[in-house]
Amino acid sequence: MRTMLWVSSLLLLVLGLPSLAAAQSAKPAVKLADTIPTDNGDLVITFLGHGTLMFQWAGKVVHVDPWSTQADYAVLPRADLVLVTHEHRDHLDPAAIKAVSKPGTVIGVTLKASATLDGAVVLKNGDSRELAGIVVDAVPAYNIAHQRSPGMPFHPRGEGNGYVLHFGSTRVYVAGDTENIPEMAAPVVKGVDAAFLPVNLPYTMTIDMLVDAARMIQPRILYPYHTTDTDMAKVAVALKDVPGVETRIRPMK
Ligand code: ZN
Ligand code: ZN
Repeated sequence: MRTMLWVSSLLLLVLGLPSLAAAQSAKPAVKLADTIPTDNGDLVITFLGHGTLMFQWAGKVVHVDPWSTQADYAVLPRADLVLVTHEHRDHLDPAAIKAVSKPGTVIGVTLKASATLDGAVVLKNGDSRELAGIVVDAVPAYNIAHQRSPGMPFHPRGEGNGYVLHFGSTRVYVAGDTENIPEMAAPVVKGVDAAFLPVNLPYTMTIDMLVDAARMIQPRILYPYHTTDTDMAKVAVALKDVPGVETRIRPMK
């Protein structure tokens, strides 16, 4: 009996380990994507997970905050442009940026993130630049209420960027790690075609903050992203009453 038990656990070990290892390293090659028509062909948005997105438009590929835990960047289309919103490790991953880069890839980053990336273009809040043929506006991203300790917000004002990308006349706002800040009501953000707004707590927005942000921005399409453990069913219900905004829930844990 004892021998049989020993043999069966050995079998489990031999048969079980490889499949367990495969399951742990498996990253699905095909991810969910949305298509938004623009005045220069379709914009394809791939939801890689967490705070990471890939945009494909007019023959160009843009990666925002690529992070190795979310995708196998070796098999994804190489970037013409990489944008980094801030230096936290789930947004700034030099290995992922290296894997997805090719000769000529332009990298747009914050000042703090530029310390770890040679040759990157630094964008400050308020800057507007054409990078790899795409106009990019850098806008503020910061906390007002949520703090690491008294007086120390998780994301201090002036350090992080959100980005508004101009795909022809279609504007897409990737907010980065932020709360519902008054700058969201400014013309550079207001009325964008699509807005990606974060709801991971405690670092970014509560559902109430998200609703307030949606009212300020008035995006045509709202994608809650960087969702972590936030209850997306509750998010969908809360956003139902924001007039003129279509909410699309996608897996961005
Ligand atoms: Zn952060
Ligand atoms: Zn984050």
